[in-house]
Parts: sequence; structure tokens; C-alpha cells
Amino acid sequence: MQSDPSSQSLAQTRTKKRPRTDSFDNEIALALTGLTDIPSISVARDPKYYQVNGDCKIRVGNTLFSIHRSLFEPDFLAFQSMLQLNSASGLTDENPIILARDTAEHFRALCWALYALSNSLTPEQTEGNSIELLTDLAFISHKYQLATIQSWSMNAIRRKCDHDICLWDNEKSYLIHCPDHLLSILLRLFVLYDETALQLLVTNSWITRLTSELPLSAFSTAFEFAEDNKLRTFLGQLYYARLTVADHESRHATFPQVNFPLQELEERHVQRIMRGSWALSNAWQNLLLSLPSLPAHSGCQQHDSKCIPEWKKLWASASTRGSVSDIRSKLRYIRDCLVNASYYGNGRISLGCITAGQSIVVPLIEKVELAFPDYFLGPE
Ligand SMILES: [Zn+2]
Repeated sequence: MQSDPSSQSLAQTRTKKRPRTDSFDNEIALALTGLTDIPSISVARDPKYYQVNGDCKIRVGNTLFSIHRSLFEPDFLAFQSMLQLNSASGLTDENPIILARDTAEHFRALCWALYALSNSLTPEQTEGNSIELLTDLAFISHKYQLATIQSWSMNAIRRKCDHDICLWDNEKSYLIHCPDHLLSILLRLFVLYDETALQLLVTNSWITRLTSELPLSAFSTAFEFAEDNKLRTFLGQLYYARLTVADHESRHATFPQVNFPLQELEERHVQRIMRGSWALSNAWQNLLLSLPSLPAHSGCQQHDSKCIPEWKKLWASASTRGSVSDIRSKLRYIRDCLVNASYYGNGRISLGCITAGQSIVVPLIEKVELAFPDYFLGPE
């Protein structure tokens, strides 16, 4: 199915047709509306999934499927009640169950999965197990509450995304190398399934790609995706990433630039990035003005003479790192210095106080990251 360019993935098609939030009821209402709306056109039997002895007739567009009702078990009752079918629905070619809002191709994918499942096959053991096919299955099975296929396809997708993660080598990660369009499909799917850990995996990979390999114009696509899907946290992370790229470009330009190089962006994005830049710079200045104090570890004998001056020096040194608004890099610099000091034991800050310093800086980084949307978009 992925070879036919006219058959965009289900995920892409649906993004354009409706907002994510009203997904389920609307789809079903539309599916039922179709019962009367479909003009009487000639109907052809599907060459592969019209089984002569099938007892469940389903019409999708002008294609008629005949499959075995038992394949849907244990989910058929949920499927039946959701579509408000009566017991006679789908028993004959003349009275099929009509799915008006799906394509024959997507339903064919569902049939493929139903038969593979009935043979106890894993997605990896079947042909055509591309990630596009699996995501289509996860979407359509969610729509029709086919719980068995939902978990079958999601497990395969989860394995695919998790499997190739290598903490030490980003290059090996599937999400770093998969085709660009899959990032938005996967993220929408993981939002639909409320898979927060997987959402984070996708957004982190997406940002890594945006800041390293993709053209800057790809930021606009990501901004729009995050806006359309109301992904405020992701939008905040994206703005921060774009700001750091602009800062970097600005500092390395041949001629000093008055404005950030943000030409390719729409005005509202530019305004938000400028607002974030100002707010983050302010936040850093405020941190310097009221520097978090380093508590003395109980065994520390040199706190006032060594730890405190060194702690202040560390913050002053961080202030010179990167641009003034790149507050996360500054805090990460402090964290890394503390880790290194702890590792090499250079004695400038006592070990116990290094731990105390880390317990100040690490939560601060998390707090700043969580506040990215507020810096750029204002309070919710
Ligand atoms: Zn100390």
C-alpha cells in the first residue's frame, strides 16, 4: 500500500480533515451518515479479501469485502455496537456493513492484519510490515476499537522505535533516520494513544534532526504541526531550538547582524521567538542577581574559603557560554563542570558540596525546559 502515492497514509489524510480532539465520535457519525449518502454505484468484490465462505460483508467505497466474522473476535461486539449494527447487518452482499469514510486500501490493510493475527503471526513475520502500514493499522483499529489489533500494531511500532535506540550513538536511532514525514505521523499516533514516553522520543529526535540535518525551512512545518495539534510543550521546545540556531548563526555571521536570521518564518513565529529571547535573557540575568546559594555539606571544612568562591566563579564562567538567551546550555555547562569536578576530584569544591550543587542545577534545568512554552507563548 505504501507504494501508491495517491494513498497517503491515513494519519496524513486525517490531519487535514479534522482536528485531533473530536476524533472518535465524528468519524463514527460520518461513517453512519455514509449509509444513506453513498450513491448506488457498481460494487466490485475485492480480489483478495472477498472470501466465498465469509460471513461478514463490508463495503468500503465501491469495494465489497467478505471476511470471517470470527477474525474480529474478541472485538466484534464492540465493533458492532459502535457502528450501531443490527444482527442482520453484514450477512449478505446486498446488506453489507458500510464504512463510508475509509478507503478500500486501508480496510485491506486491516484484513491483512486480521488474517495474520488469526495465524498468530507477529508483524515481523508477515510481509509488508512497513512502519506506514503499522501506523495505518494503529489508527484504523483505534477508530473502530479493535483492541487486539491496536495492541498488536502498537507493540510492533514501539519495538521499532525503541529497538534501535542507542544512548551513546544517535546515528543508530531509527527515529533519527526514518523518512521525515513519519515523525509527524508517529507523534500524532502517540498522542492519540497517550504514549508520553514515545512522544518524547519523537520530539527529541525531531528537534535533533531540525538542528543538525534538515533545512531551516523544516522548522516552519514543525511549528505548524505543533500548533495544529495543540502540542504546546513541543512548540516551546521548537522555538527554543530555532532561537539557538539563530543565535549561533548571528554570532558566526561574516558581518554582524542587527536582527536574528529568521527570514523564512512567518511573522507570528518571529515575534514569539523574539519574545522568548528577551524573556530567557531576563531569566538568566535574574538568576545571576539572586544566585542560588550553595549549602554547606556537613563535613565540608573549606566552604567559605573555597566552595562558595568556586561556585560563583562557575556561574560567571557559564555566563560567557553561548548567547545570553541560551540559558539551558549555561546551566548544562555548570552541571557538567560539577560532574567533571566530582569525577576528577580536583578539590576546588568539596565532594559533598558538589552533590549539593548538582541537586540545585539539575532541577533548575528541568524547570527551565518545562517553562519554554511560557517564555515564548506567554502563560497558558
Ligand atoms: Zn563546601
